[in-house]
Amino acid sequence: MADEKDRLGGKLHDVEAARENQWARQRDEELLEKMRLRLQHHACPHCKQFLVAKTENGVHLHACPDGHGAWLDEPILKTVLKEQK
Ligand SMILES: [Zn+2]
Repeated sequence: MADEKDRLGGKLHDVEAARENQWARQRDEELLEKMRLRLQHHACPHCKQFLVAKTENGVHLHACPDGHGAWLDEPILKTVLKEQK
């Protein structure tokens, strides 16, 4: 009987460990997601505010909310400049 109880206790422990692992994994993913978001949201070099993603004339760019500037991928910039000619 005591043996049975120990086995049950061991199983419960396994379940708890698995749950803890899952929780840790989930927390890691949340941290990674936050880091990804931080990388995506570059700060304006002038006022350090996060840039806001928006689309102007069909061009996807990140702009400072205070209008200090806008950033876009270089290939997109080249395409836009080409279209202007
Ligand atoms: Zn700014």
